[in-house]
Amino acid sequence: VKKIGVLTSGGDAQGMNAAVRAIVRMAIYRNCECFLIYDGYNGLIAGSSKIIKAKREDVSGFLTLGGTAIGTARCMEFREYEGRQKAALNIIKSGINALVVIGGDGSLTGADTLRSEWPSHVKDLLKDGKISESDAQTYTSLMIVGIVGSIDNDLTTTDITIGAHSALTRICEAIDALQSTAFSHHRAFVVEVMGRNCGWLALASAICTGADYVFIPEDPPRGEDWETRMCEALQNSRKAGKRTSMIIVAEGACDSNLNPIKVEYIKEILTQRLQYDTRVTILGHVQRGGSPNFRDRYIGTIQGAEAVEAILRADASTPSLIIGTLENKITAQPLKSAIIFTQQLAKEIKNKNFENAIKLRSPTFKK
Ligand code: ADP
Repeated sequence: VKKIGVLTSGGDAQGMNAAVRAIVRMAIYRNCECFLIYDGYNGLIAGSSKIIKAKREDVSGFLTLGGTAIGTARCMEFREYEGRQKAALNIIKSGINALVVIGGDGSLTGADTLRSEWPSHVKDLLKDGKISESDAQTYTSLMIVGIVGSIDNDLTTTDITIGAHSALTRICEAIDALQSTAFSHHRAFVVEVMGRNCGWLALASAICTGADYVFIPEDPPRGEDWETRMCEALQNSRKAGKRTSMIIVAEGACDSNLNPIKVEYIKEILTQRLQYDTRVTILGHVQRGGSPNFRDRYIGTIQGAEAVEAILRADASTPSLIIGTLENKITAQPLKSAIIFTQQLAKEIKNKNFENAIKLRSPTFKK
């Protein structure tokens, strides 16, 4: 019998609950057992009090809830071998032989590390007398399946990550609200949106709200004196009759020397050089809050169901997998490809190879 553990880890995202619900329901439907692991990797390290066998009704009402009902955490201990060994012991004690991790690239990297170390954890635990010989023979491998729950839309193995659509919806609502006050007062608004070092939320919200200027990490303003070019562009819009200026800044935005571009700096330029009445709004956690929109409920559900199917199809030679949705088709690809992508993108930006960064990102910014 497959015994599937499920946890959510890292930053919460709308739609994680839909995925958890689908995993529990699909696992029971397919005659597997399912265990809810509370509070991310903290729960795996804490053991039986946080690893609870799930019944169908335990996930009732999850579909429409924001955040993650089974809790999430940043867990320093899991970053260390010893922490992961405690997790391995609790996995074996609970009888779990497959783990679904819903989280961002950090959480998925941790899960993949646990799997690659699995034989040595089993060997150590046997040597220390923490598990029996028969346990060691039963738990020779641990299947890992990842689902990307992240508002940032920062992985290439899926067109859209769970939570990104709801966050974008929330950003658009907030900017629409700002537009009406900006309009009344002829104001400029400089709005910071989340996304870590991914500009998807910023670019998509700029397109969807008709913003005047946008800063994203993958494509920094080139050359000297980009500030003057920005001012000219904004002035031209005003000359053409626009009463407001809306500038969107990704939280990871930087210039071509990798100096952060901050909203306060943009405000200073607009106030001093253009004498615009300028306000700054940092949208913050409101972007991850509230109920998931239809799209995150939908992809959360189908990806959760597919995670269970992928576990049932897998054998010991199957690599850790990541579930995604590419060109409207559900996919299960090796987890490594997602992790390598993230590392490569960070390297390209660090080395100021912005052309490469944009090319790498292009699967997300699809033509
Ligand atoms: P996200 O999953 O949203 O990217 P984090 O990067 O904060 O969020 O990762 C969430 C948790 O995953 C961390 O608190 C840690 O427990 C685990 N984790 C992250 N990176 C690693 C790693 N390289 N090795 C082991 N565990 C990790």
